[in-house]
Amino acid sequence: MRPVLIFVILFLCPFCAGSWGFFAHMRINELAVFTLPEGMYTFYKQNRRYLRDHAVDPDKRRYADTSEAARHYLDVEHYEVCIDSIPRKYPDAVKKYGLKKMNQSGILPWQIQQSYYKLVRAFQQRDSAKILIYSAYLGHYLSDAQVPLHTTANHDGQLSGQQGIHAFWESRLPELFSEDYNFLLGKAQYISDPLEEAWKMVSKTHLLVDSVLQLDSVLNSSFPIYRKYGYSKRKNKVVKQHTEGYSRLYHDSMKHMVERQMREAIRKTGAYWYSAWVDAGQPTLKGFPLPPVPSP
Ligand SMILES: [Zn+2]
Repeated sequence: MRPVLIFVILFLCPFCAGSWGFFAHMRINELAVFTLPEGMYTFYKQNRRYLRDHAVDPDKRRYADTSEAARHYLDVEHYEVCIDSIPRKYPDAVKKYGLKKMNQSGILPWQIQQSYYKLVRAFQQRDSAKILIYSAYLGHYLSDAQVPLHTTANHDGQLSGQQGIHAFWESRLPELFSEDYNFLLGKAQYISDPLEEAWKMVSKTHLLVDSVLQLDSVLNSSFPIYRKYGYSKRKNKVVKQHTEGYSRLYHDSMKHMVERQMREAIRKTGAYWYSAWVDAGQPTLKGFPLPPVPSP
């Protein structure tokens, strides 16, 4: 593939590159295991690799299932000026906006709720394959809810002349700097209302959109273009991407925002897994036929 075409793919099609980037999604699911209590930890630890490897299945599914894309984002401005005006419950939202609009504008908070209840059912049935697959999926959607550009219609800076910022923020920055992040998190906390919590998360994340765009815009205006982009080899292909120098300045200007969002993604993933297990009556996770062979 010619570099120019790769550039187009990476910079103009953020969702093709995968939300949070494959790297961060995998790390988040893997690290969430360490927040779990005793009754869950052993089973999840045994299957850590599965949870990591399948963290990106929902992104891959977009190619085969056209209804998948809307599950990963919420274009708040397409619904309302203020996020608080969007009905919290799915049936109320369907009544107000209709399914067609919702499938264009995104359904992320409701998708989190749906995945949560699928996981509760899997625990109730003590179906190890389903527990793993829905845990992996739920971790993915919860992680997307921590990415500011997943909560705005300007999801790749296409409305502000900042195309490419989506993959830059959620893929390039964690790949470059997450080695230095502090991922020591406490034990998972119980969430009593998964839908309300999902809305809280998305609302909080949405508040960061302006900073994500403005800080890049300010830095960009004082940075010569030849120092902003460079070519490097990635999976045996030459790709154009932000230089390390520009990336570091942008990353530092956000004052640990990427780290905080990634930590929160891990914390919430562990908390939702734990809460689903509690809501299912804390079934024993011992004695499953191993290794389980989950299928999508
Ligand atoms: Zn996603």
